[in-house]
Amino acid sequence: MRLEFSHKIDDLGRILIPAELRNSLGWVKGDTITLNYTNGLVVLSKKEREQECFCCGNPDTRVRVDRKDICENCMKRSVEMLATAYIIDVPGPLE
Ligand SMILES: [Zn+2]
Repeated sequence: MRLEFSHKIDDLGRILIPAELRNSLGWVKGDTITLNYTNGLVVLSKKEREQECFCCGNPDTRVRVDRKDICENCMKRSVEMLATAYIIDVPGPLE
């Protein structure tokens, strides 16, 4: 696929990435885009998401909530805190 768009740079140095292109690349609001300049060419790419827990910084995350990664320990602690707040029974691990 080859697409070409032309846009003027605005007063703040921004350019528009057309919705058609963003959609085809799966880029959404809030994504971090990396700009690489090499040998006269500029390449834009989506930065892979950080996979650190937003609570404790643990690099081992398995769950993503509202665009943020959370580790298993913090998820458990959150569930326990909710259970305490609402006085509900949380089943333990299966044996
Ligand atoms: Zn964590």
